[in-house]
Amino acid sequence: MTGFSRRVEQVSISGIREVFEAAGDDAINLGLGQPDFPTPKHARQAAIDAIEAGDADAYTSNKGTEGLRQAIATKHARDNNLDVDPENVIATAGGSEALHLAMEAHIDAEDEVLIPDPGFVAYEALTNLAGGTPKSVALRDDLTLDPAAVEAAITDDTAAFIVNSPGNPTGAVQSVADMREFARIADEHDVLCITDEVYENIVFDGEHRSPLEFADSGNVVLVNACSKSYSMTGWRLGWVTGSHERIERMLRVHQYVQACASAPAQYAAEAALSGTQEPVDEMVSAFEQRRDVVLDGLEDMGLSVPTPEGAFYAMPQVPEGWVDEVIDRGVVVVPGEAFGDHGEGYARLSYATDTETLKEALDIMSEATAAVT
Ligand code: PLP
Repeated sequence: MTGFSRRVEQVSISGIREVFEAAGDDAINLGLGQPDFPTPKHARQAAIDAIEAGDADAYTSNKGTEGLRQAIATKHARDNNLDVDPENVIATAGGSEALHLAMEAHIDAEDEVLIPDPGFVAYEALTNLAGGTPKSVALRDDLTLDPAAVEAAITDDTAAFIVNSPGNPTGAVQSVADMREFARIADEHDVLCITDEVYENIVFDGEHRSPLEFADSGNVVLVNACSKSYSMTGWRLGWVTGSHERIERMLRVHQYVQACASAPAQYAAEAALSGTQEPVDEMVSAFEQRRDVVLDGLEDMGLSVPTPEGAFYAMPQVPEGWVDEVIDRGVVVVPGEAFGDHGEGYARLSYATDTETLKEALDIMSEATAAVT
């Protein structure tokens, strides 16, 4: 057998899958990173209509349909105070491809990428696949990323840093002041800020603002997707927004690895972004209620947990042995170290599950906590 690339040998299959596989079939799964809501009906219908009309049979332009890119530009104006030319957007196969494009277009072999720790598992893997070196930046105690820590970690080799708000696995929302600082750092140090905003719509407290709004240098690339905000994980539709030059470089990668995002998904996404936002509001208020249930439950069992202000995750600090005990008792949670060395001593719970089931899971966690403390 021939050898494998050094880059791929640095990447392993996500530890999260292993946790699911270790749990029994009737376990309560609080490990999942996807909303338990249907895709909005008007988005599904738009895809059905496009398919039936034969509009979704062929490749679209590499960047995506004009309709979708216009809808994204309109969304940026509506939600992000951004005046974006639809030419400066590429529709991608989910936020994952958008992150991949950002890395491939900007990272060289000797480059360091600063990643939040704990942070979304793809950041380290995609950095390694691009041939770069991931360097973790520990989060604050409230599980937000400190701009001062990012700035202090910058060296001559730093090519990029990643910001993710609302955050996975933390549920933390960065303040507006932090987002301004990230933009300043990108401008002043001439490093790229990759801002991953896939949970943008799922905010309960605070306000989501993008560093792209505040930067002057063109050194910010924005990654977003319909996956979480519109409960469209299966559709595989995301996008990247950036300066003309950066989009042109990312397009060079995208045209060969993807050609274009799935055409039916593009029609669904256009409708999701430009149609009524009521289903999103309903989903977000359900998540907020569940967040409160989970937070109360965890605090009642004496666990310390920063209040998650967005996404659908909570990340309590847990005693040694807690995760195994909880999983043994039939509730799947993800150990914090799956998200980086600084995740040790934490666990990630996803509350993308109905309240009844969450309460059942909290009872089990409470028993597990008593057993290990
Ligand atoms: N970014 C973060 C922070 C995520 O949690 C995820 C998915 O879990 C992604 C990006 C990728 O999203 P998508 O399913 O759109 O590829």
